[in-house]
Amino acid sequence: MIVIRNARILGGEPRDILIANGLISEIGAGLGGDTVIEADGLIALPGLVDLHTHLREPGREDAETVETGTRAAAMGGFTAVHAMANTSPVADTAGVVEQVWRRGQEAGHCDVHPVGAVTSGLEGKHLAELGAMADSQARVRVFSDDGKCVSDAVLMRRALEYVKAFDGVVAQHAQEPRLTEGAQLNEGEVSGRLGLTGWPAVAEEAIIARDCLLAAHVGSRLHVCHVSTAGSVEIIRWAKSKGWNVTAEVTPHHLLLTDSCAEASPVGPYNPIYKVNPPLRTHDDVTALREALADGTIDCVATDHAPHPVEDKETEWAAAAMGMIGLETALSVVQEAMVETGLLDWAGVADRMSARPARIGRLSGQGLPLEVGSPANITLYDPAVRTPVDPTAMVSRSRNTPYEGLTLPGRVVATLLRGRPTVLDGKLV
Ligand SMILES: [Zn+2]
Repeated sequence: MIVIRNARILGGEPRDILIANGLISEIGAGLGGDTVIEADGLIALPGLVDLHTHLREPGREDAETVETGTRAAAMGGFTAVHAMANTSPVADTAGVVEQVWRRGQEAGHCDVHPVGAVTSGLEGKHLAELGAMADSQARVRVFSDDGKCVSDAVLMRRALEYVKAFDGVVAQHAQEPRLTEGAQLNEGEVSGRLGLTGWPAVAEEAIIARDCLLAAHVGSRLHVCHVSTAGSVEIIRWAKSKGWNVTAEVTPHHLLLTDSCAEASPVGPYNPIYKVNPPLRTHDDVTALREALADGTIDCVATDHAPHPVEDKETEWAAAAMGMIGLETALSVVQEAMVETGLLDWAGVADRMSARPARIGRLSGQGLPLEVGSPANITLYDPAVRTPVDPTAMVSRSRNTPYEGLTLPGRVVATLLRGRPTVLDGKLV
């Protein structure tokens, strides 16, 4: 039996948490156990759940593996991640999703829930084996061609209809392909000054509007990946006001960074560390995204952790790969953008980073409140420290963090997966 002493659940009064057989068995004062973890006033959150992680295995093990990516997740306080389907081979069959799921079990640092591709090979032509993936050992409930948009309206409609049978959800990477041909950076003043091909907000917003209408028409569940514009927020708010089954996520980087980073980075303009899909937007977009996350229009934070090896990022802007890592910094960035600004309290953070993503992914045993009988998925967090972000200290196989040199608040001190520590004293167990 493990006892966590003096943990402040969701920032409340210090309590002891007793863990037996992987479950929280008692919460109180003066509790004893065989093993003691002194929390000493640290905040206790339910283990974080990520709806959007690129683990890169199979196919790009030079960027990340299930082993290294789930280590990074545990270090970031996550107890479950959804592994995106754009691997090589693509996760579009029961065989591939079961392989990823099994690798997650072997690694053991957090639960790995494979996302299934919507279309075979992410080619946008034929539906993948959605039913077989749902029935597989991996029990896939989230389907996405992420990295690519399911732009064919008929295919999107069929996918939405198909997943209803097993209460699945289609997670759309909303990007109208014709409107974003050659796009490099948010279409606006900065892209104009830098001479980079603009990436218009309407390319995202048009697809989100269409998909909300389609989801309502067929009565199915739609999830919108990485919302990045104020206009997208308005559309989602409208769809929710109609009572439609639409959920949405925002990434930490879209809550903190703007397109001006590409112009005014510490190492000069055109630093591809800031190249990401969807692109960083404007200050007004960031403000709208923060407000939408606070009022629940955007349901959750998802990292879109996108590891790339150095040679794919440290090149000229146009040639560089899109994406940034985010698992190890997510909670700190959310503290900076949402908690320090008074927009969310710790209960709100637990809701947006644990409860809601678990519900959207239909996970049982994750995202549950820290109370007696719940699985002991627990993150102990110290919000009081501020440290400069050091990419070399990260455990992800890749180093493409946009926060290098920034000083961010908070540190994950411990992560427990069903009562078993995966991180203790800020180090992997
Ligand atoms: Zn995406």
